[in-house]
Amino acid sequence: MKISTITNWAYGVTVVLTAVSGIAFIAAADSAREERRAVSVHLALNELGEELAIGAELRTDEARLYVMRGDLAHLQAFDDANTVEHQLEATARAAASLGATEEEQAFLKRINTDVDALEDMELEAIKAYRAGDAATAQEILFGAEHYRDHVKLIDDVRQFRSMVRSRTDQDLIAAQARSNLFGLAARIMLSFTAAVFLAVLYFVLRRRVSLPLSRMTGIVKRLASQDFAVEVPLDGRRDEIGELNSAIHIFRENGLERERLDAERRRDIKIKDLILQMMHRLQACQSLSEMARVLACYAPQMFPELSGGIFLRDDETGALQCVARWQSDLSPSQEFETEACWGLRRGRTHGSNFDEGEDMRCAHLGAGKAAALCIPLSAQGDTVGLLSFDARGGDAKMIRDDQLYLELIAENIALTAVNLKLRDQMTQLVERDPLTGLLNRRSLDAALIRYATGRLMAPLACLMLDIDWFKRFNDEFGHDAGDAVMQSFSGILARITEGHGTCYRFGGEEFVVLLPGYDAERSHQLAEDVRQSVASTSFSFRGQHIDGITVSIGLAIANAGDSTETLRARADAALLRAKAAGRNRVEVSAADGVENEQPR
Ligand code: GH3
Ligand code: MG
Ligand code: MG
Repeated sequence: MKISTITNWAYGVTVVLTAVSGIAFIAAADSAREERRAVSVHLALNELGEELAIGAELRTDEARLYVMRGDLAHLQAFDDANTVEHQLEATARAAASLGATEEEQAFLKRINTDVDALEDMELEAIKAYRAGDAATAQEILFGAEHYRDHVKLIDDVRQFRSMVRSRTDQDLIAAQARSNLFGLAARIMLSFTAAVFLAVLYFVLRRRVSLPLSRMTGIVKRLASQDFAVEVPLDGRRDEIGELNSAIHIFRENGLERERLDAERRRDIKIKDLILQMMHRLQACQSLSEMARVLACYAPQMFPELSGGIFLRDDETGALQCVARWQSDLSPSQEFETEACWGLRRGRTHGSNFDEGEDMRCAHLGAGKAAALCIPLSAQGDTVGLLSFDARGGDAKMIRDDQLYLELIAENIALTAVNLKLRDQMTQLVERDPLTGLLNRRSLDAALIRYATGRLMAPLACLMLDIDWFKRFNDEFGHDAGDAVMQSFSGILARITEGHGTCYRFGGEEFVVLLPGYDAERSHQLAEDVRQSVASTSFSFRGQHIDGITVSIGLAIANAGDSTETLRARADAALLRAKAAGRNRVEVSAADGVENEQPR
């Protein structure tokens, strides 16, 4: 109920109670007036009765004195007293106006009769006295009859006064009782009004206003300091305080929503910032593994609640291999086929356990019910791998909310991966020889420059190799066989020198091996191993065995501080000497004999 309704009701009740107590007061006052009237009636009737008796006695006295003395003054006094008595009798006849009851009026009538009887006797005595019969006159006035009537008058007056007293006493008591009753009722009503007023004041001010307001003041203070964690209990009241409470509740809800949106906005900005940072680093990546490490570094910062992994397709087998994983406490497959992933099969993002109800779960995720998202890494028409995220047992909503970001990241990763692959291919084309797969002459020149600038370990051994009589071989077996032998030869060279140095195809059927940190003895031994291995190998081409392939090797060493400019030329000169010496041999460019050697 609204406070205004309560106060209106309280006001109404107070007004009614006040009016009732006012009426009771008026009634009490009326009763007091009644009381006073009863007293005045009593006094008036009492006095009238007394005056009638006294007046009659006075008149009798004057009549007696007149018949005794014959003085006319007494006769005159008698007449005057009689006149007064007549007036009193007239008053007694109109006693109703004084408040006399019918019974009292009847009594007054009897008194009047008594007075009149005495008057008749006294007038008769005066008349007899005037007629000269003084004895009769005295007889009448002092006789037994007069005495009896006089006593009767006195007795009647006494009874009348007693009757009036008892009747007015009763009226007085009744009026007093009424006055007391109404007075008490008025006081009770007044007390009740005061109690109602105080109760309403307490209820409205303390319970309905003061307490809720002081509680709300605390809440508003906390809300003003942006503390939206404060609880605003909805008390369901429908008064002004309830409306205020609802308004504060709505204010808090709005504050919470604003805080949530702010947090979302801050998170969005942070994620976008991190994505930008990650993209800058991705652009600087040199290899796919480096790219995977960058992703594994940034993904947990962007999505702390998600674990994940990046899988790259192996070009030879077509299988997906895990190259990086983050925040993963599960053990999903390290390697799996395309068929194990619904995302790769369909060529689009696939959510496992994403929605209510059953859905196809990717086999590579392993058992479990955690929501997961697989995003194929596709760019320029090529699917290079897969990004996989899972909610670590949490709500699928977490992934669903970030799906756009995850797909954006996947797009960038895919582009980076494709670019790195293209760059690898380009590098291969630029640095390697397509027939043998060995590094080409350009790479050799770059390596020698690196050595010259001190970036390779000293000393540096250089082997120059040339297949013997290869023109003749080509002429005999054909160029295809020559190519096949050259590939096999490169394989032998790479295998023997692996872990020792780097092989280059210098051009035609000539090769170079750089051996950083190798002195003449160790490098000569390695060259011998190569030579012997080639000589003892039976090459084959289309099922045909080809023996007798040999190689001549020239060896030169550059020590720390030496120039590398003539190193290859010296090795070449040594090779010439090996050719000249009969081929299938290793010749060392002696440090003291180098100056005589001429480059070819
Ligand atoms: P030598 O023992 O003096 O080195 O005699 P050679 O015949 O090996 O030397 P020459 O320089 O006269 O001939 C080199 C031959 O190598 C010429 C060419 O037919 C052959 N050759 C060069 N590059 C290739 C290649 O890529 N494939 C094939 N099949 N042959 C090649
Ligand atoms: Mg040659
Ligand atoms: Mg040759």
